[in-house]
Amino acid sequence: MKDKDNKTKDGNNKNGCSFCGRSEKEVGFLIKGYGGNICVDCCKSIANVIEEEEHKRSVADVQSLEIGTPKQIKQYLDQYVIGQDEAKKVLSVAVYNHYKRLKYYAANKQKQDEVELDKSNIIIVGQTGTGKTLLARTIAKMLNVPFCIADATVLTEAGYVGEDVETILTRLLQAADYNVEATQRGIVFIDEIDKIARKGDNPSITRDVSGEGVQQALLKLLEGTLVNVPPQGGRKHPEQKFIQIDTRNILFISGGAFNGIERIIANRLNAAAIGFSASEERENIDRENVLQYIKPQDLKTFGLIPELIGRFPVLTHLEELSKEALRDILTKPKNSVIKQYKKLFEIDGVELTFADDALNTFVDIAMQYKLGARGLRGIIESVMTDIMFDLTDFAVENKVTITKDMVMTQFGKEKSKFADIA
Ligand code: ADP
Repeated sequence: MKDKDNKTKDGNNKNGCSFCGRSEKEVGFLIKGYGGNICVDCCKSIANVIEEEEHKRSVADVQSLEIGTPKQIKQYLDQYVIGQDEAKKVLSVAVYNHYKRLKYYAANKQKQDEVELDKSNIIIVGQTGTGKTLLARTIAKMLNVPFCIADATVLTEAGYVGEDVETILTRLLQAADYNVEATQRGIVFIDEIDKIARKGDNPSITRDVSGEGVQQALLKLLEGTLVNVPPQGGRKHPEQKFIQIDTRNILFISGGAFNGIERIIANRLNAAAIGFSASEERENIDRENVLQYIKPQDLKTFGLIPELIGRFPVLTHLEELSKEALRDILTKPKNSVIKQYKKLFEIDGVELTFADDALNTFVDIAMQYKLGARGLRGIIESVMTDIMFDLTDFAVENKVTITKDMVMTQFGKEKSKFADIA
């Protein structure tokens, strides 16, 4: 209802801004809505209020992030990852520092602080199936931040067949349910980083679109800039609008097997050992496990460009898993495959036990077929499928014990499958 002053019953100026009350003449331009109008000045003020509120909330979010000491982080990792003590220690410290950095920058966003804390991106070198992904995944679970795995082998230089590096962030954005603030403090695991090593010594002869070109493109993400990310990924949706992601606080962990890097390390050690106090140094070197001596320069010799190596200040390695470690992997982790099977049976009211020699046989098979820790689950699955298919054949008074003989018989039926992989 309007009166003769063009005001509604509650006193609002129907032809002016519903927020500041000024007339259209005064403000020049009004955005008109169904229930009222708003002037440009009020729009701007509201946008500022929203931004401030969002910032306050994100600071509060970050400040409320709780993380233990590096020792406690390692203890958490110990529950899920067997062995790999050195890597767990290095990761715990790196992640601890990352969190401190997050809090520091959240608190100092407005100020131009003089001390810059560098990001502690990490490279983990280790054979496939030794726990690189597991470590990264476990850390993300503990931190309760968005986490994604990106495969470096599918990445190519922009404009070539394959995926642009920005799609890595699309995955993280999706993992964060498109929450930009959360995405910006997530963790990205880049798998098979060794596969984008420079091919050959002279990159100028042929275009190296999936090698050095990708390394160059990755630099941009790693150094911490605003990146335009296609929310759906890929080039199949050219119409999509980009979302801007600030990568400054995203932690990048990359992993790779770097096949042949032991030789590079050994050569370097040999070269260094010639000369002064050569014999003493030579004696102290553990020739069987040279991976422990890995240095950034070995990655360079392998084919990573120095700029990229520089963006990963933390370098660590994983050991090859021994027989004992494989055995522990079966039973000790909090969600070990044996514990999982026991739970599955328990739900059916059946008590499942594994004889010691049955467990050892799983490990022997994994070693014989060179399947490593990753293969253990497959082997157990192949043995358990028949048993689960018809439990009544195997259960006595709601109890099943898996013996070495059962493992050998069941696995014998499935053997050919594994021989193909080995
Ligand atoms: P990588 O990334 O090094 O190739 P993964 O982390 O994917 O290897 O390991 C494959 C699987 O093997 C894991 O899901 C886990 O079940 C098991 N595994 C490997 N290493 C370990 C370990 N150190 N401790 C516990 N489980 C492990």
